[in-house]
Amino acid sequence: MIDKYKETQKRVYKILKKELENDKCSHAYLFETNGNEETLPLVLEFVKDIFCPNKTNKEKECVNCTICHKIDNNIFLDLKIIEPDGMWIKKEQMDELQKDFSSKSVEGNKKVYIIKNAEKLNVQASNSILKFLEEPEENIIAILITNNIYQILSTIVSRCQIISMDKGESSDHLFENKTEEYLEYQKSINNFVVTLETKGVQTIVSINKLWHDYFKERQDYELAFELLILYYKDVLNYKLNRKVENFFDYLTDIEKISSLNSFNNIIFKINKIISSQEYLKVNANLNLLMDKLVIDLTGGIL
Ligand SMILES: [Zn+2]
Repeated sequence: MIDKYKETQKRVYKILKKELENDKCSHAYLFETNGNEETLPLVLEFVKDIFCPNKTNKEKECVNCTICHKIDNNIFLDLKIIEPDGMWIKKEQMDELQKDFSSKSVEGNKKVYIIKNAEKLNVQASNSILKFLEEPEENIIAILITNNIYQILSTIVSRCQIISMDKGESSDHLFENKTEEYLEYQKSINNFVVTLETKGVQTIVSINKLWHDYFKERQDYELAFELLILYYKDVLNYKLNRKVENFFDYLTDIEKISSLNSFNNIIFKINKIISSQEYLKVNANLNLLMDKLVIDLTGGIL
C-alpha cells in the first residue's frame, strides 16, 4: 500500500493518496525517478492500491489477499510490466501489450501497464504508445517510469501526469533547507538565465560577473547545474500550467522566459544542461565548459 511511503515520499504520497481516495486516477502517469531506486517499488504499491479489495481498510497493511500476492510476484494478469529488450523498448513489445489488453480484463475491471526506462522507447514504440495515450480507454492506466524525462517525446510527456520522486536519502539536503546560501545561489542562477534569455550569446562577455564570481570549484558547478535544471523545469511547468516548484521568488522572470521559449526549446535546453553535467564528470575545463553551455543554450548566434 502506498501508505508505506507516507513519510519518505510525503509529496508523492499525498498526490496519489488523494487520487485513490477520490477514485480519480489519471489515465497516464510519468514517474520521474530523480535517481531514486524506490520508484518501482512505490509504483507497485500504488498499483496494489488500485486493485486490492482490502483498500477500504485504509490504515492497515493488506496481508492475505491473492491480488497483492500476485502483484508482488508479477503474475497478476491485469498488470503488465515492460522493460527494454536489449538497448530499446521496441514496437513489437507495444503491439503485444495492445493485443493482451484488447481483451476484457481477466481479474478485475481495470488494467495497468508499467513501462520501465521509458526513455528507451524507440521511435516506433513511442508512436505506438502515443496512439494508446491519445485514445485512452476508461479502464486502462499507463505508468511510465524514467530517469530522464527529457529524452521522452514531448507529445508523450504532455499527455501524462508527471510525478516527480524526491531524491533518496543519499542526496544532500541543501535543496530542502532554504538557507541564505541557497537563496543566494538561486538569485545568481536567476540573473544568469535572465541575461542568457535576453542577451543571447553576448552573455559570454559578462560571464565573469554572472557566473565565475559565484561558481568557482567543480563542486559549485555541480550545484549550479542542478539548479539550472530546476529553473528550466519551473519554466516548463509554468508553460504547462503546472505549479512552479522551486524558484517561487522569481515568478515574473519565469513567466517571461516561458513565453520566450517553445515547449521543445525548453526540453532542448534542459538536455544541454544535462550534457554539461556529464562533461563535468570527466574533468572538463570549467571555463570552456561554461562558454560551450552558453553557446549551446543560445544557439550560438552573435
Ligand atoms: Zn491486497
